[in-house]
Amino acid sequence: MGKEQKKKEKSVNLWAALKSNCYMLRISFQACPGRVTGAFAVRLVQHLNGVFSSVIFWEVLLGYVERDASFWEVVPFLLLSIVFYLGVFFGFSYFDYLTDAVGNQKLYEKLHVRMFQKAADCELECFENPEFYNKYMKAATQIKGRAFRVLGNMSGLFVSLMALGYLCYKTIRIDPYAILFAIFPMISTYIIGKKINMLKYELYQMNIYADRKKEYVKRSVYQQDYAKELRLTNGFWLLMNYFQEAVGAVIQNTKKYGLKVGLLSCFSESLNQVFVTAGSILYASIRLLYFKDLQISEYIVLINTISYISGILVADADCVSKMQDNHLYIQNIREFFDYKPKISQSQPGKAVDRENLLLEMEHVSFSYFGQEKEVLKDINLSISKNEKVVLVGENGAGKTTLVKLLMRLYDPGAGRLVLNGTDVREYAVREYRELFGTVFQDFRIFSLTVAENVLMRRMEEADRETVEMALKNSGVYDKVMTLPKGIETMLTREFDADGAVLSGGESQKIAIARVFAKDCGIAILDEPSSALDPIAEYQMYESMLKACENKAVVFISHRLSSAVLADKIYMLEHGRIIESGSHKELMQKNGKYAEMFRFQAQNYVGEEGA
Ligand code: ADP
Repeated sequence: MGKEQKKKEKSVNLWAALKSNCYMLRISFQACPGRVTGAFAVRLVQHLNGVFSSVIFWEVLLGYVERDASFWEVVPFLLLSIVFYLGVFFGFSYFDYLTDAVGNQKLYEKLHVRMFQKAADCELECFENPEFYNKYMKAATQIKGRAFRVLGNMSGLFVSLMALGYLCYKTIRIDPYAILFAIFPMISTYIIGKKINMLKYELYQMNIYADRKKEYVKRSVYQQDYAKELRLTNGFWLLMNYFQEAVGAVIQNTKKYGLKVGLLSCFSESLNQVFVTAGSILYASIRLLYFKDLQISEYIVLINTISYISGILVADADCVSKMQDNHLYIQNIREFFDYKPKISQSQPGKAVDRENLLLEMEHVSFSYFGQEKEVLKDINLSISKNEKVVLVGENGAGKTTLVKLLMRLYDPGAGRLVLNGTDVREYAVREYRELFGTVFQDFRIFSLTVAENVLMRRMEEADRETVEMALKNSGVYDKVMTLPKGIETMLTREFDADGAVLSGGESQKIAIARVFAKDCGIAILDEPSSALDPIAEYQMYESMLKACENKAVVFISHRLSSAVLADKIYMLEHGRIIESGSHKELMQKNGKYAEMFRFQAQNYVGEEGA
């Protein structure tokens, strides 16, 4: 971290801190108004209780004593006090175990849903940008903790200011100079607290890298995806080394900062105790016993108010420095929420006319975030209604990138995409994407039921037929019917011990069924046969063409046998389309495609003969 940046981070402006804390309070209130209001109400009752027990109770009780009142005159006041305390304790318990506990869950849910929605709305490029991704990770890990901290802090600060007004009024009426005993500790706590927060933030920053490493190892060790490699290689011990190194780094940092923080806190605390408690008692005692110009009730009230005011001021100073501490993290959360996605799902625009489908790429070039190398160069292609298009080419030629651009997961760096004569950026993003049904090579099966994995939403009874049809078309229906609950069987054992674990090929067929179940205009299948054996691949391809009669299909394959049935083939090499046309045309041309086709055909014959 540069010196300039450190300096900038250290000088947190109070006004900016207040604004960002209010921002957090506002989004928490929007998420769960009841929880936020409840927090303020509790603080109010807390301070009412505090003011009553330390000031009003003694003032009234000692007033009776000073007036020489009888025991029976005092009894109603004592009974009222008991009722008041019981009410307060009942209120606290009710809030703690019901309103607070339920409200916390609601607040947690609403804030996270808002954050997940935002993350889902950001274009893929954001996730490839380490700066943005770091911001997202920080926001994700901090949002819950910060929301609760800000709520506790701000409600404490605002309500205590009201109590403070009343207590200062009471003290000044007895002795205005006594206030000084309460003010001094606040200043020292504020200055030292600020220093402590800065140290804590530095520690947090220093630990980010090691914490991420720890998280990575944790994820890798317990995720099923890595289970095989970790058992068959020395990868487990390699990860353990990384984990231990990361924990070691955190311990070292913590030791270095922990000592400084501990010493500062100890110094600040002892200063407060000596000055406030001992100082104010000594001062009031001199007035009571030496000058004899204080009444006993005033003596008790004065000592109590000074101690209470000092408590509030110290707490408020701490609140202010916590506010500044929160500010640094909230800024991050705020920047994440305020980010305006370049391709937003909620972006409005023209409706898509599915009747006349013609999707074209015009001179499209594209590079991934932060990379100079163009992955796609001057691409021109078209996909018309119900057309079957195949993209072929070696690994890394740019086929997957091309289909990601078709779906607007990215926008091109140069050139444009045109749908029915209109630039695709003019269409509503969500509706435009609804045009596609897609299976990627790195598809994911979720820990949901088979039907939910196919529909990608909750299933209603009316959907049963669609799900069954889709599973039949992708060739996995018979397998699903052998599962205990058929299409309602949970996939994976993450949440259900009876969940089904499918093979790679079966899982891929479930993913393919998504395309058949969706009412899409263009089906995109990225190497859908990679996990299938040749017979299953042939069946899948045949049934796909049958099931997609009324859809355009973009099919990516490195096995050229599947290209034979396509209307149009685009052959890519190093990000360029080097040949295009039907299988017949390209064979006649006798170029790269024909060469590759013959080479692969030879291999298949060889395989069959073997
Ligand atoms: P294909 O589908 O033809 O195998 P891809 O479109 O997956 O090719 O990849 C084309 C090139 O883009 C490759 O060099 C690959 O390394 C690179 N690439 C793919 N995805 C990313 C990414 N998210 N960030 C940076 N480079 C990428």
